[in-house]
Amino acid sequence: MSDGITQLAQDVLKSGTLTGLPQHLFIDGKPVKAASGNRMETFDPGSGRAFAQFDLANAEDVNRAVQSSHKALMGAWRITKPAERSAILCRMGALMRRDLARLSVAETLDSGKTLNEAQWDVLASARMFEYYGGLADKLQGSTIPLGLDYLSYTIAEPVGVTAHIIPWNYPTSTIVRGIAPALAAGCTVVCKPAETTPMTALMIAALLTEAGLPDGVCNIITGTGPEAGAALVAHPLVRHITFTGSVPTGIATMKSAADHVASVTLELGGKSPMVVLNDADIDAAVEGARWAIYSNAGQVCSAGSRLIVERKVHAEMVEKFAKASKSLRVGHGLRNLDIGAVNSLLQLGRIEANVNDAKARGLSIAAGGSSVHDPQTGKGWFFEPTIIDDVGLNDRLVQEEIFGPVMVVQVVDSYEEAVEAANCTQFALAAGIYTKDVTKALRFARDVDAGQVYINEYYAGGIEVPFGGNRNSGFGREKGLDGVKAYLRTKAVTARL
Ligand code: ADP
Repeated sequence: MSDGITQLAQDVLKSGTLTGLPQHLFIDGKPVKAASGNRMETFDPGSGRAFAQFDLANAEDVNRAVQSSHKALMGAWRITKPAERSAILCRMGALMRRDLARLSVAETLDSGKTLNEAQWDVLASARMFEYYGGLADKLQGSTIPLGLDYLSYTIAEPVGVTAHIIPWNYPTSTIVRGIAPALAAGCTVVCKPAETTPMTALMIAALLTEAGLPDGVCNIITGTGPEAGAALVAHPLVRHITFTGSVPTGIATMKSAADHVASVTLELGGKSPMVVLNDADIDAAVEGARWAIYSNAGQVCSAGSRLIVERKVHAEMVEKFAKASKSLRVGHGLRNLDIGAVNSLLQLGRIEANVNDAKARGLSIAAGGSSVHDPQTGKGWFFEPTIIDDVGLNDRLVQEEIFGPVMVVQVVDSYEEAVEAANCTQFALAAGIYTKDVTKALRFARDVDAGQVYINEYYAGGIEVPFGGNRNSGFGREKGLDGVKAYLRTKAVTARL
């Protein structure tokens, strides 16, 4: 970590806030006050204290933002050459690297994650701008052979104004994985960050203007889901909605999109399995499980939150994983220990209720099990890295998402049982397997219902690899070349010669 980041983190820990944070909505290339004048506080989960305020947009503000994006779609962005779109996005990648310290510290302050995690997200986002910048001038159509008397060809057109509803667990990288391909495709965007993490979206919009993005191409409206979010997804000028969040809100978004026949990408929950077979390298599996469930304090849609272990290695795996879990240090994200804060008191309460339920039912807690405070300040919203051992297939702890640092262990007696256990929930987002048997690993990749499969390294991959779920985890793919598809539509042109 650079000295600059460490120094800034220390200053912010002392003062409790970051100077120069955005104050208002971002519409038409500049900060704009919300029509109602209403504002809301945002909290530092590491201390539990409010550190900034932001504007609450209403339907009038949302309309202003969508109209601005529509005007830019028909005007400045339409006449910007693809090569220039590419240059703007690549410049944006460089600006994110330049502002790595400020963006990472703001992200930690708003979300609670560790500074390391925030930096990885900012750097991955810079890469996404560069990756889709590289694609912007290569989105070609094709010609269709109909014989000598016709010329038939297709054009890859932008779908239009796109709305992006952003969750609070990965505020920076989720917004960028949506808007970078959308902008590369020639779409304009209106984004609504989550109520508890509005800051980095506003910073990103200002940086895009500095990178040369014409006014109105990227608008940000902060505010609540039921007011600003609902008005955005219901707006008739919005042609595609990229939603990341909970299953019920995803369903509501899809219903609202249906009323104006807009397309949707839904990235919803998960309860992803990490399978450990008898022949696995157990130390590697322990390391994998550590990242699978404790990254971002377990607040990850694709977290490996179910450890499915073959019986012969169950005791060794749980013992070693419990030891590793107990060694992890929890504390304020800006102190950059192993695990940061839970994003909100509400989410902490949800995690606690799940673990208390396990305790009340006499289930075995192999590590952790309690909410805690930052050991240095006695403040903030944290939860110990927790393992609940030997839980049955139909138990709600196996079936429902907890969204915290809580690993639920399932014991199985064969490869077939492992596959059955892996596929036993309503979700199908990610799945991991640890084994030295290549055939079994590849069979698992075939047999498991998941959008992405990790073999011998949970989360193996990168921004180049498509990401998304099946069934109640949603549909559509983000990242990689697949990630641009939602933002393009095909126009077929055929001429009689
Ligand atoms: P969580 O319960 O974890 O906060 P949500 O799915 O409610 O998850 O939130 C994800 C995002 O969806 C947030 O930006 C939130 O403001 C937004 N949101 C919530 N309700 C609505 C809604 N009715 N319409 C559109 N967006 C919404």
